[in-house]
Amino acid sequence: MASYNILTPEYKIILLGEPGVGKTSFFFRVRDEVFLAESPTTVCTGVEHLEHRIVIDGQEVKTNVFDTAGGERFRTLTSNYFTNADAAILMYSIEDQYSFERIEDEIENALQFVDPEDFVWALIGNKADLHLEIEESSIKAKGKHLGTPLLYYTSAKSGANVKESLDAVVKYVHRKRAGTPRKYSGVDSDLLPIISTVSTPKMKSGCC
Ligand code: GDP
Ligand code: MG
Repeated sequence: MASYNILTPEYKIILLGEPGVGKTSFFFRVRDEVFLAESPTTVCTGVEHLEHRIVIDGQEVKTNVFDTAGGERFRTLTSNYFTNADAAILMYSIEDQYSFERIEDEIENALQFVDPEDFVWALIGNKADLHLEIEESSIKAKGKHLGTPLLYYTSAKSGANVKESLDAVVKYVHRKRAGTPRKYSGVDSDLLPIISTVSTPKMKSGCC
């Protein structure tokens, strides 16, 4: 779990999801505020984690965000990847139904390594610049099943919602760890609204 440095609490957030959903692109968007035109998966990134700092309730909080470094392609994410993780961002691509269905397997796999009582899940639909192929009701149902209000659309390509959603996850983890009582009743003024839509992805229409 997080190490409780009095001055700076530290958290670990891991990225999970099918190959190709945009985890590495999300990671680079957070780190460098860029979108690499070439598929990051084909670039030897050599980077596995980044350090993200924000101030929450007047206190600086440090978060290490881990990317899979491609291990998910070969189903070789080891227990190390999950060790001491406080939260997982379960990422799917909004234009890829299969990647959404695979989230269940990601959860099942993660549960071998994490304590569900103490773990925070966030569900992020990336590629929000493309067409939405997944019913919003299914997304909400999955969030309910996971017991999380952290449901977001992002676009690593445009940058929309990337930092906002990550900050919301960190904030949620921090408050949970700090034991700050919080009520969740659909919309929390401190969190982005459930399924935040910076630019609402359009459901693919039947024609054309
Ligand atoms: P990973 O395998 O989950 O790490 O996915 P990558 O970050 O390697 O991205 C896979 C492909 O999706 C690449 O070609 C990216 O350029 C593309 N991609 C990633 N994020 C987005 C996005 O938000 N919008 C669009 N249109 N393409 C994206
Ligand atoms: Mg990757």
